[in-house]
Amino acid sequence: RTFQELGLPNEVLQGLVAMQFQKPSKVQERALPLMLSDPPRNMIAQSQSGTGKTAAFVTTVLSRVDFTKPTQPQALLLAPSRELARQIESVIGQIGQFVNNLGVATAIPGAIPRDGRVDKPIVVGTPGTTMDLIRRRQFDVSGLRVLVIDEADNMLDQQGLGDQCSRVKKMLPETIQILLFSATFPEKVLKYATVFAPSANMIKL
Ligand code: AMP
Repeated sequence: RTFQELGLPNEVLQGLVAMQFQKPSKVQERALPLMLSDPPRNMIAQSQSGTGKTAAFVTTVLSRVDFTKPTQPQALLLAPSRELARQIESVIGQIGQFVNNLGVATAIPGAIPRDGRVDKPIVVGTPGTTMDLIRRRQFDVSGLRVLVIDEADNMLDQQGLGDQCSRVKKMLPETIQILLFSATFPEKVLKYATVFAPSANMIKL
């Protein structure tokens, strides 16, 4: 299988070539066709770190966003720490380097001024700051079509983060596609994950 066969937009393919990704990794090969299916389906994907998870969900996000609406937030990616949010932002910048009107906002502490707006097509954040921005109406979530939760084991397990994630989710459009990625899904987390992302396709490597 090649990236070309997955029906990705040309600019995204160019980005993958520039990254020198010759072919999809295992998790990408299995997850991408499911995540890109129409109509969109939720996904719960378990795969060790270092297997290409980040590129898998970043490629999906870049393929789902309509960059002709460059100020309308359409994809939200949540991570447990600002460092990880920054890393994801950087991978989006790399794979998305040929995408016209690529824009990424970071919803992490201190990144958006109190009177500022989240006005980029892709938003990467931590759950607490993201929730604050939505509540203060600085972040219009009405156009979001995809929600990614990275390190879902951490995010959904811990009291604080898990509560914040479900509070954020309650404010999002009901039809949003939900993608959960994690290296592990302990039984308790998996139970919660299947409620958080109903009727999800599941893959485990
Ligand atoms: P991750 O699992 O997201 O931490 O990614 C692990 C590493 O694999 C990163 O350094 C990526 O740049 C790299 N990578 C991701 N996808 C591919 C691919 N299809 N081919 C080669 N390297 C890849």
